[in-house]
Order: sequence, then C-alpha cells, then structure tokens
Amino acid sequence: MLSKKDAVGSLEVANAMGVSCATASETLKKLYEKGMLRREPWRGVSLSERGIMEVNRILRNHRVFETYAYEVLSISLEDACECANRVELYLSEKIVDSMCRLLGHPKECPHKNSIPEGSSCCMEK
Ligand SMILES: [Zn+2]
Ligand SMILES: [Zn+2]
Repeated sequence: MLSKKDAVGSLEVANAMGVSCATASETLKKLYEKGMLRREPWRGVSLSERGIMEVNRILRNHRVFETYAYEVLSISLEDACECANRVELYLSEKIVDSMCRLLGHPKECPHKNSIPEGSSCCMEK
C-alpha cells in the first residue's frame, strides 16, 4: 500500500505515528462526528447498551482489519492502523468475521489491544 505520509502535514504524521491504535474514546468521538451518537461522549455521558455494542463493533472492525492487513497482507503496522481508521465504520460484519476466522479468531491486535468477539463469530473454537 502506498504511504500518504509525504502528502500530509506534520501534525497528521505525528498522529499516524504516535497514536498506536483506536481507543474507545476516539471511537466515540468518531461516532459523534458522524451523527451516530446524539450527545458528546467526552462529557461523561453514560452509554446505552446499544452504544456500547456499537463501540465494540467498531473497535472489532478496526482491530480485526489491522491484524489482517498486518499479518496476511504484510502491510506495516502504521499503515494498517491508519487504513483501519478510514474503513472501520464501514466494514460489514460478514467481511470482518471472515477475516477473523481466517486469522484463527485472534484475541489481540498487533498493538496488544484486545479484540472484541463477534456475536456469531468467535464462539466456534
Ligand atoms: Zn491495534
Ligand atoms: Zn472470530
């Protein structure tokens, strides 16, 4: 994959390098910006069960995708993570589950962050 780093400003480069992986709060912020959450999550609003599921789904998308890109496609972890940031909201469950199965249902991404289980995926051993 082509790195876009040459084309972006130093701030974005710092972000891409320094932010190791999606965190729950970043994910919440993203959901809010997309209009998928009604309130500003960083103000200590407690999440509904659905909201928690949604955050888990996106963290799972991010981490399964980046693990797949890193391990199967041999993409650098930085690029894999950056790319995961772009697609995590849009991946379908079917695709993520397929990647998860192919990877043998990993428990952690390469950053050692835990990967949430898929609702119908990771039960099979
Ligand atoms: Zn990660
Ligand atoms: Zn799985």
